[in-house]
Amino acid sequence: MRFRRSIEEFGSYNPYVKGEVRIRLDKNECPFDIPDEVKEEALRRIKGAEWNRYPNVNSDSLREKIADLHGLDMRNVVVGNGGDELIALSLKLFEGDKVVISSPTFGMYSFYSRLEGLGVVDVPLREDFSLRDVENHVDGARLVVICSPNNPTGNLQDREHVERVLETGVPVLLDEAYAEFSQKSFLDLLSEHENLIVLRTFSKAFGLAAARVGYVLTSERIAERLLSIKSPFNVNFFSMKIAETALDNRRYVERIVSYIVEERERIYEQLRDCAYPSEANFLLVRLDAYDFLLERGIAVRRLEGRLKGHIRVTVGRREENDALLKALREFRGER
Ligand code: PMP
Repeated sequence: MRFRRSIEEFGSYNPYVKGEVRIRLDKNECPFDIPDEVKEEALRRIKGAEWNRYPNVNSDSLREKIADLHGLDMRNVVVGNGGDELIALSLKLFEGDKVVISSPTFGMYSFYSRLEGLGVVDVPLREDFSLRDVENHVDGARLVVICSPNNPTGNLQDREHVERVLETGVPVLLDEAYAEFSQKSFLDLLSEHENLIVLRTFSKAFGLAAARVGYVLTSERIAERLLSIKSPFNVNFFSMKIAETALDNRRYVERIVSYIVEERERIYEQLRDCAYPSEANFLLVRLDAYDFLLERGIAVRRLEGRLKGHIRVTVGRREENDALLKALREFRGER
């Protein structure tokens, strides 16, 4: 059981969750389903196809649409069965027996590194959650992982610092799963750095967590190698068509993002003394309120280690956020 993921990682299956969870703010999901007309269109495309045939081996039609979205060539794009698959694959590409991460961060980097038999070197984030001198710890590293905006702290990392790490030549996986909710992205660094792999996902701003589709944008050289080691047909036809339809109708994503950003700032204003500013669709909150909220039907993420006593709350719908804020006022005896 050495490699067992923490129970907390998959909150809805948490056997310790007792009673009804009415409000799920634990997995950084989008609180809105995709619009009905977009669903209908995806179903139409799916129905019109031959289900007895294997899909395109590398999901080329989806790669093309993603490339168009970012003004790149499809040779710079690889899609995966969720961003998670691409994290696992990126760890198989290069030489070296260790992976550099900066905690507190997304748990799957060290999970997949250990599965791969790799050492995990942690260069912990500073007190303000900015990167420490990561560039001084890259010797012999197979991969450096930087998450920006970082899960669970919500902050962006500093551009100059990311560039300093890239300039060492070490392969860098820059996880931008939450980039749509922030003002900045490091995508433009792709043109100057062949060693950069940027990870994105359809699970958050696009509201398609159920479809399990993620992608990386990287140099042709790295993309080619990723394609050569991944399982054939790794993204199933149905998910591929759903993601393509979402891209063709992506105006709904803009509406979701502005709603979430507005709600995020509203929550932050009300919790200013105990919440950290965030550039993502969640907030880190310095309150040990996990059990209190769960007893009231609200699931959030409980954090451990250095963030013991903190919770991570996903930005939900307005009424869900109101219920969260009300419960937190009660928790703090402010009624
Ligand atoms: N990176 C980060 C930082 C995440 O928080 C997540 C999802 N929780 C992922 C990657 C993976 O997302 P998915 O596999 O749903 O694409």
